[in-house]
Amino acid sequence: MYRIGLGSDIHRLETGKPLILGGVLIESEIGAVGHSDADALTHAVTDAILGALALGDIGSHFSDKDERWRGAESFVFLRFVVGLMKEKGYGVVNVDSTVSLETPRLRPFIDAMRENLANALEIEIECVSVKAKTGEKVDAVGRSEAIKADAVVLLKEG
Ligand SMILES: [Zn+2]
Repeated sequence: MYRIGLGSDIHRLETGKPLILGGVLIESEIGAVGHSDADALTHAVTDAILGALALGDIGSHFSDKDERWRGAESFVFLRFVVGLMKEKGYGVVNVDSTVSLETPRLRPFIDAMRENLANALEIEIECVSVKAKTGEKVDAVGRSEAIKADAVVLLKEG
């Protein structure tokens, strides 16, 4: 059996905060604000897996009221959810994702993000797609007020 999942995330941007995406620290004057390390891409992928399994969302497993997760590395969440998925007897077929961010340009960092995600998901890098878009100067993304990430995953049983 196959199951498909959708994940979506948004974080506010602020000067002087680190910008981490797919576990990669991106050189940037502005970064994402969040309870954990605010890795929007990893949160979206984590939510997509939870969604595919109808197991709630990242907030229901890792509350932002919980001090344990303050500043947490988001790959801790992803690896936990991959464990849940494996317990249910599923593996990831492929992931597609889009990060929406006005600046900086993400292209130089894309392959490193894909590699990190592929390792955590226990699949080949060819099965992980990360795309980058700007906000065309409109909307919260376009005004550099926010970073957004969307992801879909396909899971296969067995
Ligand atoms: Zn998030």
